[in-house]
Amino acid sequence: MATTLPAAAYPPSDCPICPRLAAFRHEWRAKEPDWFNAPVPPFLPVGGAASVRLLISGLAPGLRGANRTGRPFTGDYAGDLLYSTLKSFGFARGTFEARPDDSLELLEAAIANAVRCVPPQNKPTGPEINACRRFLTPVLDSLPALTVIVTLGRIAHESTLRALGLRMADAPFKHGAAADAGRYRIIASYHCSRYNTNTGRLTPEMFHDVFRAARAAVDSAQAR
Ligand code: SF4
Repeated sequence: MATTLPAAAYPPSDCPICPRLAAFRHEWRAKEPDWFNAPVPPFLPVGGAASVRLLISGLAPGLRGANRTGRPFTGDYAGDLLYSTLKSFGFARGTFEARPDDSLELLEAAIANAVRCVPPQNKPTGPEINACRRFLTPVLDSLPALTVIVTLGRIAHESTLRALGLRMADAPFKHGAAADAGRYRIIASYHCSRYNTNTGRLTPEMFHDVFRAARAAVDSAQAR
C-alpha cells in the first residue's frame, strides 16, 4: 500500500504556472529567505496516503502561516481551531505548537489546499485555482480508503468538486451541507479563518458539528 502520494501531486518548488503567484513567492523569498516560500505540500497522516479516510480541502497557504512554515494551517490562527477540532474527533494526536516539527500527527486524515502557493490578500484568481487543480486531482486519485471530504470555504469546495468531475449542482456550497457523490460524502464548511471566527460567521461549535458529522461518516463507512 502506498504511503506517499505520486510525484504528480507535488509541484516543483519553483512552479511557474501562475506568474502572479510565482512573482509573489520570489518577492517573499527575497524578504524572508528563512521562510518556506514554495508550494505547500499536502499534510499526510502517520499511516500515509493509504490510511486516509478523511480529506480536508483548504484554500491556500496563509502568508505568515503555511507559506512561512511549509505545513498546511500551521503558523497562523486558522490552525488553532482546525487542529484542536481534529484532535477532539480523533483525527489528530500530539500537541499543536504551530511549528512543522511539533508533535502533532494526523490520524486517517490528510489536508491539501486547492491552491498550493500563497496568493496576495488570500485571494487566488479563477485561472490560478483552475491551474493548481492539476495537483489536487492526483491527491484525490491516490487515496484508496478516502470516503469523506470536508471542504473549507466555497473556493476549496468548488475546486474539489471539479477535481472529482462533479457538477456544482451535485453538492452546492452551504455550511454544514453534506452530499453523497459516488463513494464520497462531501461536507461543506465555512473556512476556519480568523475573519470568519471573529465575525461570528463560523463558531467553534459550528466547526465541531462539521467534524462530528465527518467522524460519523468515516465510522459508518468503516463499519460497512
Ligand atoms: S498555485 Fe499551483 S499551479 Fe500555480 S504556481 Fe503555485 S503550485 Fe503552480
